[in-house]
Amino acid sequence: MGLPSNSKPGRKRVAVLGCTGSIGTNTLDVARHLPDRLEIVGLCAHSRWDDLATQCHEFRPRFAVVTCPDTAKRVDRSQFPADTRLLFGNDGLLTLVTDPDIDIVVAAIVGAAGLMGTWAALETGKTVALANKETLVVGGPLVMDLAARRGAKLLPVDSEHSAIFQALTGHGARDVAKVVLTASGGPFRGKIAAELANVSVEQALDHPTWKMGPKITVDSATMMNKALEMIEARWLFGLRAEQIDVVIHPRSVVHSFVEFVDGSVLAQLSPPDMRLPIQLALLHPDRVSGPARRLDWRTLSDLRFEQPDRATFPALDLGFEVAAKGGTAGAVLNGANEAAVARFLNKEIAFLDIARCCRAVLDSHDYDPAPTLGGLMTADRWARQEVARWTTP
Ligand code: NAD
Ligand code: MG
Repeated sequence: MGLPSNSKPGRKRVAVLGCTGSIGTNTLDVARHLPDRLEIVGLCAHSRWDDLATQCHEFRPRFAVVTCPDTAKRVDRSQFPADTRLLFGNDGLLTLVTDPDIDIVVAAIVGAAGLMGTWAALETGKTVALANKETLVVGGPLVMDLAARRGAKLLPVDSEHSAIFQALTGHGARDVAKVVLTASGGPFRGKIAAELANVSVEQALDHPTWKMGPKITVDSATMMNKALEMIEARWLFGLRAEQIDVVIHPRSVVHSFVEFVDGSVLAQLSPPDMRLPIQLALLHPDRVSGPARRLDWRTLSDLRFEQPDRATFPALDLGFEVAAKGGTAGAVLNGANEAAVARFLNKEIAFLDIARCCRAVLDSHDYDPAPTLGGLMTADRWARQEVARWTTP
């Protein structure tokens, strides 16, 4: 089979799942700057079909997918380029991800909804650039096992995990004493719990260093994001939970530390700009000059580190606990958190209720240490239902 007409040899052929989101649009900016290295072959969005159509006119992908069934009924096909094949629903997503002309899938859908596309990509042996940490929180062991069986690469996009991945080059888990994830501390760093009782959605969405989608921004404010990242790191790098720790670093310049068994510590530094970890995953193992902002060495005099306040941010304890526990605990924590964040954004529950109700749901769940994929889906559904009927005690 010949190359499609607009293909150039040597370019990686990319599908972006979640192309209209924060990671999705940053991915397209990387592709925009590196046209000789990256070719966008497929784009997949949930409901913002007009943004998707605009992206299609710029990148001319072979496929565009709209996954939301209600949106699918409203899409105006005439807004898309004639040579872009428009697909719908999860079937469309699977057609895109498994197409033989795709080399690498960027998993940038938010939440457990991202698991299906990542799973299908790994099953067909494709490389996945993984932003969707929830995939590993829900099904870490099964996902890692699938990737190993299919010989598929799973490359981190999350900035902390990209830093660890870079520091680990040439080394494995047994060379590691400890991995320390850095956290900005979010908008409420330095506050005590009593001061957080009545914070608004707008305050929770006002992140000091990163511009991201609403769900992960709330996760950063509760510090659930760091809890999810501990669990992600555990499975991605084959670590034990005791090897993972967290330190607060407000400027988000040092993106994590790896302490090796000999006492040497490696860190990765760069300004908070997701285009760098996205580019690293897309072009791995190559390093090229790309669009990400550069460090100004003259401003590096005040890199501070603090211990996290686990009393004010109890979500962190959930991360340590679930990273150690495994089994269905990750699916339950993640499902509960997604549902609780949605209720907070809807102004149905208070900010502090998010971690409170995740704790209650986790404590009352029927733990299975070795679930199947079906068992994980059941645990996820159960946790969401529990949160839906949860009320402040
Ligand atoms: P976002 O809300 O900005 O974008 C989410 C994307 O997913 C959108 O394109 C949307 O259309 C799509 N989507 C939503 N629900 C869907 C569904 N049910 N089915 C199919 N597609 C759906 O989110 P984001 O900030 O870009 O984050 C995406 C993922 O990357 C999350 O898992 C997040 O934790 C992770 N991540 C984000 C950042 C960041 O800087 N934004 C950093 C690290 C990791
Ligand atoms: Mg991160």
